[in-house]
Amino acid sequence: MNKIVMVKSVKSQNSQNDFCVNLKNLSDKELYLICKKWGAAALAARRKFAGLLPEIYAREMAEREKGRSWLKKRGFLSVYEFAAKLAGMSREQVDLVLRLEKRFEDKTILHSALVSGEVSANKLARVVSIATSENQHDLLGKIETLSSRALEVFVKDFKNQNGLTETKTGDESLHVQTFKLEKNDLQVQTLESEINFDLELADDVKKNLLEMKKKGIDINQILRAFLNERKEKLEQEKSRIVEKQIQKRDDRAIIGMPANRYIPIEVRRVVIKEFGNKCSIPGCNRPAENLHHEKGFAIDQCHDPRYLKPLCRGHHELAHAGSFARAVILCSLSIDAPKQKCLSRRNRMQIPHLPAAA
Ligand SMILES: [Zn+2]
Ligand SMILES: [Zn+2]
Repeated sequence: MNKIVMVKSVKSQNSQNDFCVNLKNLSDKELYLICKKWGAAALAARRKFAGLLPEIYAREMAEREKGRSWLKKRGFLSVYEFAAKLAGMSREQVDLVLRLEKRFEDKTILHSALVSGEVSANKLARVVSIATSENQHDLLGKIETLSSRALEVFVKDFKNQNGLTETKTGDESLHVQTFKLEKNDLQVQTLESEINFDLELADDVKKNLLEMKKKGIDINQILRAFLNERKEKLEQEKSRIVEKQIQKRDDRAIIGMPANRYIPIEVRRVVIKEFGNKCSIPGCNRPAENLHHEKGFAIDQCHDPRYLKPLCRGHHELAHAGSFARAVILCSLSIDAPKQKCLSRRNRMQIPHLPAAA
C-alpha cells in the first residue's frame, strides 16, 4: 500500500526514471497487487463502456432514418470502429453486447445489469439460454457471486435438471436455442450414451466372458454378484476407517490437540475407489479436483469417507455457494451446503495409486 502511494507521489513529480526505479524496488507481492488493482479497474471501465453501446447503436439507427449519422458526425464509420478506437473492443464483443441487449428486452433486471455495466456481457451470455422473467433476479445473484466456471456448471446442471438441451448454430452463446425434452427422450439418450460407452475390456476378459456365455453361464448374474460384493466391501472398509478416524479425533481431543485437517491417504483411497477420479455429481464428467466435506469439517472434525465427495472445481464452488438446492436436485450431495471452508488447497485431489483389486 505504501508503495502504491510512493508510485503516485513519484508520478506527480513527473519523473519517468524515478518511477521506473521505484517499480523495480517493488516486491513481487506489491507489484502483483498493483496489477490486480488496475486490472480490476480496467475491466470495470470496459463493462461500463460496453453497456453504453446499445444506446449508441439506437441513436445511430434513429439518425440514419433521418439520413444522418451519429457516428460519422463524430468521425467513426461504424459502431465497431467506435468501440475499437475508444475502448479496444473487438467486433465479436460488440455483437455480443448488442445481441444480449435484444434478448434481455423483456427481462428488465438483466437488461439493466448489462447497460449499467454492473456485470460483464460474457457472464450474462452464459445464462441467456435459461433466463426468464421469473428467474432473472436469482440468475443475477448467481452471476454476481459465482465465477464464470461455476456459472457454466450451474447452467448445465439447470438444463439437465429441467430436461433442456441445446443446439448451437454459429455464435457460441447467443444463438443457443433451448428445447424441452420429454422424460422418455432423456432416458433414451442416457441409455444410448451408456451403450456406446466403450468398456475397453481386455482381450483375455472378453475371451473368458464369451466362453462362459457359450457354456450357458449367466454372465449378468456373475457381474451383478461381483458388483454387490464390491459395494459391500467398500461399505465395510468405510466403516472401519470411520471408527479409526473418530478414535484419532477423540484421542487428540483428550490431549487438547485440534483435529488434523489433512485428509489421510487411506480415506482418499477409499473415496477414489468408490467414485473414480471424476466429479461425483451425476452427469458431470469433469475431473475431480477437490474432496468436499459434505458435512463441513468444522462440524464433526472428522474425515468421514461417507461424507467426502470428489468434486470438479465448478461444483465445488457451487457447493460452497449453497447453489445445489436449485441447480442439482438430482445430485446426491446435501442440499444447501453451508458456506464453510473446505480446506480446498490442502485437500486438492491427490489421487493415490489404487490397489489392483477394488
Ligand atoms: Zn468443499
Ligand atoms: Zn462437477
